[in-house]
Amino acid sequence: METKTILIISAVAIIFLLESVFPHYRGRATRVRHGAPHIITAILNSLLTKFALVLLTLWAINWAESRSFGLLHVLSLPPIAETVIVYVLFDIWMYFWHMANHRFSFFWLFHRAHHSDTEMDTTTALRFHPGELVLSTLFRLPVVILLGMSFAQLVFFEVMLNLSTLFHHSNLAVPEKFDRALRTVIVTPNMHRVHHSIEMNETNSNFTSLLSVWDRIFGTFRTRKDTHTITLGLPEFRELKYQRLWGFLITPIK
Ligand SMILES: [Zn+2]
Ligand SMILES: [Zn+2]
Repeated sequence: METKTILIISAVAIIFLLESVFPHYRGRATRVRHGAPHIITAILNSLLTKFALVLLTLWAINWAESRSFGLLHVLSLPPIAETVIVYVLFDIWMYFWHMANHRFSFFWLFHRAHHSDTEMDTTTALRFHPGELVLSTLFRLPVVILLGMSFAQLVFFEVMLNLSTLFHHSNLAVPEKFDRALRTVIVTPNMHRVHHSIEMNETNSNFTSLLSVWDRIFGTFRTRKDTHTITLGLPEFRELKYQRLWGFLITPIK
């Protein structure tokens, strides 16, 4: 098994156990039943990535590298500076891509399958519709080429993104003082809970994936005094069937 996969599985297991002991939202009796469709989705998505999407990404990166195309090839900076620049720019891309998933109705059809979860926990970080995965991979190809990213840089960014996503979707009871300090730099659970609120003006806020600064700069940063009072999910997908694997998969055509 790849190091990346082992790392992600370990992080899911550790956070899952921790949020069972220190839950933010209490009274969740069926956590395994809730998480199972998300785990199956993650397996489906990893197969889709391994046998199709990664090949496409490798082709794009090789194309750019063989022509020395892209920002990093033009700048030729020391590796550390290269890494910082590429991650900051890619994180901005992720911010706008996420916002586009909310603004454009075709993208929202797929992204709403992530938002329809009514009991968010760390496994919600795995709840991304395969259709959204295909779209996000296709749309980021030009970005990867323009930046001149290497495959190793992309994989490392993905690992950081996955760990951040597992953390900010978690049901961990992070003390508000600590959460507030942390969200001056990165996305925190209390920040992302607002994004999963049933209230549309809250759903359309806090789009960032890693650094919280983008929401502050572009005016989409939003907090809620008491995140315990948030109703999670979407109004049109309250039925239990949308929390099961089949209901989740057919969400885009409902
Ligand atoms: Zn969203
Ligand atoms: Zn989310």
